[in-house]
Amino acid sequence: VPTVRLNPALLAFECSMSGERTAINDVAGPVGLCGCCPPPGKPLVAIYDLAAVGALASSVASRSRGLWRFAPLLPIIEVPEGYADDVGDTPTFRAARFEAELDVELHVKREGSNPSGSFKDRGLAVGVALGAALGARRFCLPTQGNAGVAACLFSARLGLPGCLVYMPEAWRGSVYHRSCTLFGGEVRFAGSNVAEAGTRMRAELAAGLASGEVIDMSTFFEPGRLEGKKTMGLEIAEHFGAGALPDVIVYPTGGGTGLVGIWKAFEELLALGRLGGERLPRLVAVQSERCAPVVEAFERGLDHVEPVVSQGTAADGLDVPSAIMGHGILAAIRASRGTAAAVSEEAITAAFRASGAAGLSTSLEGAATLAAARLLRLRGEIAPGSRVLLLHTASHAVHVNRVNVA
Ligand SMILES: [Zn+2]
Repeated sequence: VPTVRLNPALLAFECSMSGERTAINDVAGPVGLCGCCPPPGKPLVAIYDLAAVGALASSVASRSRGLWRFAPLLPIIEVPEGYADDVGDTPTFRAARFEAELDVELHVKREGSNPSGSFKDRGLAVGVALGAALGARRFCLPTQGNAGVAACLFSARLGLPGCLVYMPEAWRGSVYHRSCTLFGGEVRFAGSNVAEAGTRMRAELAAGLASGEVIDMSTFFEPGRLEGKKTMGLEIAEHFGAGALPDVIVYPTGGGTGLVGIWKAFEELLALGRLGGERLPRLVAVQSERCAPVVEAFERGLDHVEPVVSQGTAADGLDVPSAIMGHGILAAIRASRGTAAAVSEEAITAAFRASGAAGLSTSLEGAATLAAARLLRLRGEIAPGSRVLLLHTASHAVHVNRVNVA
């Protein structure tokens, strides 16, 4: 296995619920959910010695391109050349076409330029490297979208055995199935939704998962994916600069890794003294009306997300009926004075078509952010003249066959 090296500034993994920490020196193998909360446990979060991060920053960052420019704030400080040079550094630009309609300053961050075509590459690049550094030799995950493709791609780049991907039966022959196979993955089908596929996966792979040989890369089941997604926040801060951050960041929320990650980035930059005393951006979590557990929990004032029964949405990435990090998602939204909004399927597809007509490449999840911006302007929850950033998390290619584009 090629060289992957832990960051010497990585102090501990902390339970996102109890705050209990496991020092990195006491970590003997790959890390999953916490052991302190009732089974299956809660997500663990990487904690850094920020003084050591500052010292590393000058020596490490300049050596890399892509994601690993931010190595001092990642759990893995060294990866093989070519492993992730093409991950991250995604373009952020004005979407002028919609500015008159919305009466805001509108920016888009386009994640479709990542190697497997979506923002999932950020999380899986770091998650796979972290797992490998801690001794894992194979990865697995249940998926109905881009995450599986990214897990296969980065397993292939490390020369590991093919990632074991479990998909619902109906996904046989889908673009995700074919892409996973292309990148060396081993795809298995079970059940009618991703939860059922996950149940089958954990039963079939029980022995390898228990020994730590196989790592479950499900959203928030290990701490690496969050750290990778955090780089979106680091890039946003870099692009706009201290004192000029967006007023509002609109984020399509399934499992919520990116939303929690963007907020973690801002908190770490604040602690490092890299941001001024400015107000941080308000975070808006966008979901489909047909599957909106985070929006329901937010509106009810809960501190955790209760599972819903999904009615199904064409935006695969939003078809996530529960959120194991719901407490973290809600905490980030509230700490930012943000909100959560559900948009209709019709509004999502209308925004997809409108984006395409304006020359913007976005998946349905990204289109949902435009639908939400429209809704929140109508409701007065985004003020005129605001600086608004939409996250376009993947390209149009994954969904163009799903929508009547005529
Ligand atoms: Zn715990």
